[in-house]
Amino acid sequence: MNFVLSDYHRSRKEEFRCFAEKEVDRGDHFPADNLRKAVQNGYMGLPLPPEWGGGGEDFLTYTILIEELSRVCASTGAIIAVHTSVGTFPLYYFGTEEQKKHYLPGLARGELLGAFALTESGAGSDAAALTTSAVRSGDGYILNGCKLFITSGGQADIYTVFATVDRSLGHRGITAFLVEKDTPGLIPGKPEKKMGLNRSNTTELRLEDLYIPASNRLGEEGSGFKIAMSLLDGGRIGIAAQALGLAQAAVDYGTAFLKQREEETGRKTDQYAAFELADLSTRLEAARLLVYRAALVKESGRKCSKEASMAKYYTTDLAVAAATRCIDLCGFPAAEAGSLPAGYFCDAKATQIYEGTNQIQRLVVARELLQ
Ligand SMILES: Cc1cc2nc3c(=O)[nH]c(=O)nc-3n(C[C@H](O)[C@H](O)[C@H](O)COP(=O)(O)OP(=O)(O)OC[C@H]3O[C@@H](n4cnc5c(N)ncnc54)[C@H](O)[C@@H]3O)c2cc1C
Repeated sequence: MNFVLSDYHRSRKEEFRCFAEKEVDRGDHFPADNLRKAVQNGYMGLPLPPEWGGGGEDFLTYTILIEELSRVCASTGAIIAVHTSVGTFPLYYFGTEEQKKHYLPGLARGELLGAFALTESGAGSDAAALTTSAVRSGDGYILNGCKLFITSGGQADIYTVFATVDRSLGHRGITAFLVEKDTPGLIPGKPEKKMGLNRSNTTELRLEDLYIPASNRLGEEGSGFKIAMSLLDGGRIGIAAQALGLAQAAVDYGTAFLKQREEETGRKTDQYAAFELADLSTRLEAARLLVYRAALVKESGRKCSKEASMAKYYTTDLAVAAATRCIDLCGFPAAEAGSLPAGYFCDAKATQIYEGTNQIQRLVVARELLQ
């Protein structure tokens, strides 16, 4: 592994940082403008092949994009990461030629927004316990059930929905379907009031007697669990990249605050604060190596479950710690609702949970080590 970014990756990082700082806003509503600009720049399908409308970039370049976007607006980073890694890749990896022709160029160009609907009440960490049913009916299936916490719910154009054709088969009954937003029986709920990542809609998704033709089944019957699990490694690298951006933002904020205070008061930063800053910056560099390494292993085509999980839990835990320390260092104004550091903390907290909680990431790492 090369420990420094190549000239190419450094120049893309610079470009993404400039874009994020100049073009990305930090508002409090769904970031439609940010997404429109991302579409214009070809950022919605960066790691997809050009023949399908993507940018043809490697996974590291995509990871750096999510890092830099999330440094300014983590919700925008989250929407694009979910759209790319689990909203578009299922179709690219497992779609038929017909399905790809129909949906993939629109998704890769960002004209369509993709979403991933796996979680249910009682089937979060234990996704194999899902109960949404898919019953054969004529030349298709009738789906019934309720999904929870779906990123871009109500905003997405295409959902990859997981349901079981036979609960007695356990995970071997789980099957994936491509569901278009206007399909009768698809009912998104209101956006959840989360503590963070609030510009990214997270909703319930009810499926009520929803008919889906067999031509919209993704992969074989019973292959859905394998499909979902195979996507999560890439998804987790995307979440780690979001957390990396957030941690960097918190460290930058704390550093700027301490410098400004030195200038204004003439008082040198005390050793406690200086050591905190040094420790956070060191951990941030370690996190960056973990995240970029996971992206490189994924790009090489080798299994990257251990690397992705290590990067995800280390970096998301660091993002929470960096935001917390930033608030400690800056004092009360940083703890006010609406302040940037408070926002970093709330956004970072969410990254510890989705695409597998950090406890589940530790289980993945331990399993890989012990098997
Ligand atoms: C911002 C956000 C966006 C999301 N977006 C999506 C999305 O787009 N699509 C989607 O399908 N889902 C999405 N989710 C759901 C997310 O994937 C789940 O919340 C997550 O998998 C955890 O499931 P749960 O909330 O049911 O918690 P549970 O699984 O009930 O876990 C509760 C606690 O128990 C721990 N725990 C559970 N099992 C074990 C175990 N075996 N060993 C040790 N500890 C364990 C967990 O780590 C956690 O601390 C999103 C969630 C959030 C917060």
